[in-house]
Amino acid sequence: MSDTLAIYGGTPVRREPWPATGRRFGETELEELRAALEQNTLFYTAGGKTRALCERMAALVGTEYAIACSSCSAAIHAALKACGVGPGDEVVTSPITDAGTVLGIVYEGAIPVFADVDPGSCNLTAETVAARLTERTRAVIAVHLQGNPVDLNPLLALCRRRGIRLIEDCAQAWGARLNDRPVGSMGDVGCYSLNDFKHISAGDGGLIVANDPELHHRAALAIDKCYDRIDGSRPMEFCAPNYRITELQSAVALAQLDRLPAIAERRHALGARLAAGLAGLDGVHAPTSVPGAWPSWWIYLIGLDAARYDAPAFAAAVVAEGVPVRVGYVEPVHLAYRYLRERSAFNHSHWPFDQATAVPDYAPGLCPNAERAMASCLLFPISEWLDEQAVDDAVAAVGKVAAGLG
Ligand SMILES: *Cc1c(COP(=O)(O)O)cnc(C)c1O
Repeated sequence: MSDTLAIYGGTPVRREPWPATGRRFGETELEELRAALEQNTLFYTAGGKTRALCERMAALVGTEYAIACSSCSAAIHAALKACGVGPGDEVVTSPITDAGTVLGIVYEGAIPVFADVDPGSCNLTAETVAARLTERTRAVIAVHLQGNPVDLNPLLALCRRRGIRLIEDCAQAWGARLNDRPVGSMGDVGCYSLNDFKHISAGDGGLIVANDPELHHRAALAIDKCYDRIDGSRPMEFCAPNYRITELQSAVALAQLDRLPAIAERRHALGARLAAGLAGLDGVHAPTSVPGAWPSWWIYLIGLDAARYDAPAFAAAVVAEGVPVRVGYVEPVHLAYRYLRERSAFNHSHWPFDQATAVPDYAPGLCPNAERAMASCLLFPISEWLDEQAVDDAVAAVGKVAAGLG
């Protein structure tokens, strides 16, 4: 036993290799794929796999409707179209997210407005969103970052009061619940991802869930070039891309849904173990969850006191102890995206920014909590493939480094 940090030549906490990712796809996916091919069509409305996927998704989340599409980016874009977002509107969202949360806003000619996050959870709050609302705000996209539910009830109340639509970005939150209700079922529209990096994968794919028949109809048009395959009554009502899924993706997704409960349980339990271990450490903070939240961790961001620790040095020291962390998740969107900073989303044009009544200053200081958090947190790669020993080693490594660098 040595307290000398491994970066200074001490014995690392962990010498064993980090647990490898196991097999994500097996016989059930193969059986579903074979059945899909035997249908002799891979079109999403002609075969039965996409229909079955949508039925299962609606039952799982507890909504009236589910629509499958090509990605969560597509799902969010379609949700925005369904919610009536268009040129001149503003959409409030989190600056800590994937590009897919933002692209639909700009494609529809609306202005992305970033609200700051709560420093403990890195999620939007009703207060931070309220500070950004204007008479032009048409929708809010709440991102359940890390798989840790946003405090939705006050946010929903705010949106209802102001006549604003609430879209839930659940890409990172498969299996997560708030007050025993699955995320995605509480806002106007919920959007899920089946890309290969998420809890479950169909290679790529997305799901849209909603309760309102009009939102459902419009979202269904929005993912299929505005061909109306619901009842044929509204073809070419508006301009829409081809965001269709195929029967092959739906077949794999169906089999993957069987694996979801175990994956979510395992990630939840490992996160709870990590939080318990980190609780005693000074200057180190596990993510906070709101009362009633049941997180299904996709990533796990460990906060460091910025005044006390240099995050890159801290991360390097933890890595030397045998635990693969890195600093931050993404650079906040308002700082990272050139097309926002330069207002240059489309070729030889500054549209929609040059037509807007107001455009936020996409610059440092816009969202201080988000900027500070992303510069000073550690990303721990939580997954269902970790064992308890790996989590305990992570706690030991972080504790050792906190004491050694503190
Ligand atoms: C992954 C992700 C998306 C986009 O999902 P795709 O299926 O890759 O388009 C959107 N939002 C968040 C928060 C994500 O993590």
